[in-house]
Amino acid sequence: MRKPFMAGNWKMNLTTKDAVALARALKENLKDVTEVEIGIAPVYTVLAAVAEVVRGSNIQLMAQNLFWVDSGAYTGEISGPMLKDAGCSHVIVGHSERRQYFGETDESVNKKLKAAFASRLVPIFCIGETLAERERGQTPAVVERQVTKGLEGIPASDAKNLVIAYEPVWAIGTGKTATPAQAQEVHASIRSLVAKIYGQELADGMRIQYGGSVKGDNVSELMKQSDLDGALVGGASLKADSFIAIVRYQP
Ligand code: PEP
Repeated sequence: MRKPFMAGNWKMNLTTKDAVALARALKENLKDVTEVEIGIAPVYTVLAAVAEVVRGSNIQLMAQNLFWVDSGAYTGEISGPMLKDAGCSHVIVGHSERRQYFGETDESVNKKLKAAFASRLVPIFCIGETLAERERGQTPAVVERQVTKGLEGIPASDAKNLVIAYEPVWAIGTGKTATPAQAQEVHASIRSLVAKIYGQELADGMRIQYGGSVKGDNVSELMKQSDLDGALVGGASLKADSFIAIVRYQP
């Protein structure tokens, strides 16, 4: 009922030549895939070039962040209408690296989610606990706070298009993956929280991706969990072969 969604977060990597080559390799080797939704999030400077490559294909263009004002004196920022103009359909919001290094808060994430919806961009809303929070037994409280505050004031008519990515911070780029059971436990709790806010039907239709050192050799086990609907992939999305293996996981 929920179409799996595999998204590559290229982070601050790849200049035009390599980004275009990677996009071309993905387009060529994934063109027959219909049962999995695919997205890639390059850096802003290569969005237009990558948009040219993926236009008309089954690969959707995503951005890694946005600001909540459409235009003006905000040096260094980028807005929803600009990302739309560059060819994006999706945008990652609240990635843990943004929260950790760039001071993003639940409040700023909430404004960004609203800005994404206002620009008709599908947000991939990232949440997840740090290692210290997990060790203190705070995972449920942290996830509940992030979901509740992040979605404050967002109507169901927008929320129904949202994708959530559960990314335990301790599993991102560390090679440590949450076990399928650990991930499933949190995913199920996120779906219950969404059901409390928006009702069961909307929650049942919402895709919840897992992120944190997902690779070709662990994706199938993760995807067997009933509340895992895809992956947000960092490191393994930077090489065509490893991202293709993830998109073509064995269900
Ligand atoms: C990410 O950046 O969203 C991520 C999950 O990174 P990695 O796959 O490298 O852990």
